[in-house]
Amino acid sequence: MIEIQALTKYYGDRKAVGPLSFSIAKGEIVGLLGLNGAGKTTTLRVLACDLLPSSGSVRIDGLDVVDSPDEVRAKVGYLPDHPPLYDEMTVQEYLVFAARLRGLSLEDAESRVKDVIVATQLTGVRDDVISMLSHGFRQRVGIAQAVVHRPALVVLDEPIAGLDPVQIVEMRELVRNLRHEHTTIISSHILSEISETCDRILVIREGEIVASGTEAELSNRLLEGGRTVLTVRGDAVQAKGLLTSVKGVRQVEAIEAAEPGADVVTFQIDAERDIREDACRALILGNIGVLEVSRSERELESIFLRLAKPQDGARSQGDA
Ligand code: ATP
Repeated sequence: MIEIQALTKYYGDRKAVGPLSFSIAKGEIVGLLGLNGAGKTTTLRVLACDLLPSSGSVRIDGLDVVDSPDEVRAKVGYLPDHPPLYDEMTVQEYLVFAARLRGLSLEDAESRVKDVIVATQLTGVRDDVISMLSHGFRQRVGIAQAVVHRPALVVLDEPIAGLDPVQIVEMRELVRNLRHEHTTIISSHILSEISETCDRILVIREGEIVASGTEAELSNRLLEGGRTVLTVRGDAVQAKGLLTSVKGVRQVEAIEAAEPGADVVTFQIDAERDIREDACRALILGNIGVLEVSRSERELESIFLRLAKPQDGARSQGDA
């Protein structure tokens, strides 16, 4: 569905993106993950035919964004980081207007808007004026306008930014439901916000892809050398011995017990791979009770940050 080969984009003589190459298959939901300024918006704007590439090739459904921009635009639905909403219109009026702009007849637009309002859970605010909507509902209207013309590809720039935890869960469900009809690319700077939504994540740093994979592949890679914290009940010396013998374990250290109780011990384990299942199996076979096992999200985020942050010695944004 998307084929990008050696894309670069310069603003004047400052390179924002590239060289960037990746492809996305039909029906996939892919997350583009990077810190502010990494090049996410620029990449998405090129996909949406909102910006021309400086060099390289970008094809969507076989069509080149430079040679066939109008045909590409007809296939793409785009939610920019600031949704293009008209505050004085009602949700229904605005969506019919957006559908008409995309070339649908009035009859087709009205019937399509009915379906889209249901799919994006906007029924309760259909007749509300957009200026009255909360941020979460505005984002949903933004998504509704992006899908109203049945695009094959949906491009969403940080749709989760600024939402509260309940709205984040609802937005995840909404994006996952897009899978039935659309291929989707969605950007974010927070791993945990999109990790559950996407089939695959591309990590972008200084305009280049530095890691890609499914959530599990990426977590394993990001967590290489990471820590597992395990709380057990039983003989501490035996438990430590069993954990030390698990393949891939580098170091086992008893730390302050995570909960009170006789014979309760908490271990911090450094390993070169995800050892949670093997460690639990070894403990249970040794008749040690497993009370809790975790790899903290915070650590996942911090390792992502190490991957996503500009490398030491790299030029900062202001140096160009
Ligand atoms: P954010 O999450 O902050 O939007 P991003 O990952 O989307 O960041 P981009 O907005 O694509 O990153 O920006 C990539 C680089 O290009 C940054 O260094 C940015 O300052 C620069 N840039 C973006 N837009 C322009 C522009 N119109 N003119 C000049 N430089 C720009």
